[in-house]
Amino acid sequence: MSRFDTKKLHAGYNPADHNYAVSVPIYATAAFELGTVKRSDDMFSFDSWDPLYTRLSNPTTDVLEGRLIELHDATAAVSLASGMAAVSYALLNVTAGSGRILATARLYGGALDSFTQVFRENNVAFDIVEDPDNVQNFEKLIKEDTKVIYVESLTNPNATILDIEKIAEIAHKHNIPLIVDNTLATPYLLNPFEFGADVVVYSATKGLSGHGNVIAGVILENNKFNWKNGKFPQFEETPYFLRSQKGQPRNYYDVFPDGPFTGRIRSIHLNYLGAALAPFSGYLVLLGLETLSERLDKQVRNAEKIVEFLESRIGKEVLWVKHPHAKGSPYADLAKKYFPKGAGAILSFGLKGGLEERIKFLEAVKVWGFQANIGDAKSLIINPSTTTHTELDAHYQKLADIEDATIRLSVGLEDADDLIEDLEQAFKVAF
Ligand SMILES: *Cc1c(COP(=O)(O)O)cnc(C)c1O
Repeated sequence: MSRFDTKKLHAGYNPADHNYAVSVPIYATAAFELGTVKRSDDMFSFDSWDPLYTRLSNPTTDVLEGRLIELHDATAAVSLASGMAAVSYALLNVTAGSGRILATARLYGGALDSFTQVFRENNVAFDIVEDPDNVQNFEKLIKEDTKVIYVESLTNPNATILDIEKIAEIAHKHNIPLIVDNTLATPYLLNPFEFGADVVVYSATKGLSGHGNVIAGVILENNKFNWKNGKFPQFEETPYFLRSQKGQPRNYYDVFPDGPFTGRIRSIHLNYLGAALAPFSGYLVLLGLETLSERLDKQVRNAEKIVEFLESRIGKEVLWVKHPHAKGSPYADLAKKYFPKGAGAILSFGLKGGLEERIKFLEAVKVWGFQANIGDAKSLIINPSTTTHTELDAHYQKLADIEDATIRLSVGLEDADDLIEDLEQAFKVAF
């Protein structure tokens, strides 16, 4: 069972271990019977990984983690209650209370704002690469205490593509890892580990689950990065709770040989900050994953049709269209390299006119949902500058290339002609 579409339905799940249930059971339980004291001792000392308490693990979310590990050819994963938990736990883990994050402004608005609101008060600073299209600019900003490069593979709302293979080379030259938020791409369109990413994070709320019915996040690692290079002593710590049954001190490599990075997150951030993924939510992500490729294939085709329609309106209601498939896109070459199956279903366009036209247009669409979400099977529309990216001040909005006129589309699975007709009638209302 080695190919993506087979794995997305079967990987990580053996029905015989679950009463031959065809659909992954939802283990709606907080705790698990410990059985014997010996079994309990084994579980509490990490000599057994049987589930003991759902904040730490649960058989339903274990299947999700196992499936995503196989879909990425990764070695370990931890599922969490939201994408923001995945972003913040990954960055808290790599920085461990000091140093700097190197990122771009083309990030999920909340992730970028968390650098100021969460990381600053945890003694972690950050630097922003103003022009990430020139990858040399990353190297220029790496300082002595930079601990990580953090980027999104395909960005929101303008669908820019970062050259993650070159960025990974720069990171590794400086003995720091590359963490990639691959939410918009999904593993079907891009597996960042194939291009040098060390850790991959997702908001599974979006395309991974794909139905706008769950908040969830995941962190994956492939255990290739050398955390023992001197910059990351946190993985060599031997906290009391990691000791062996005989009382020997153990570090994260000893206890989590396949995944010290996510092992430390499970032990500390998940355990003590507590954003555990509910089993029912894990089940919804598993269900959505079953149709990931089919959804993405149609969404990408629909998005390309919408791009062509919007391009035909440039000079009328539309100022510009941003998507790697748009004519003259500066990301066409990177799209060939990273997105042979299509560069995603998120795009943006500039709406002519001003506030009045924007309001009329957004309130006139009927098929497109006006919501702060993406990656749903249903098509969504929003004006980022005063909604999804409203945390960003004028400086960061400019760096993120968000204008007042920017309208973001997340293209779903409807008939593309209905989506186009809906935009057409809304243009008529607005102008
Ligand atoms: C939505 C999103 C997040 C945050 O995820 P939540 O599940 O809403 O917490 C992080 N990164 C990207 C790219 C996103 O789109």
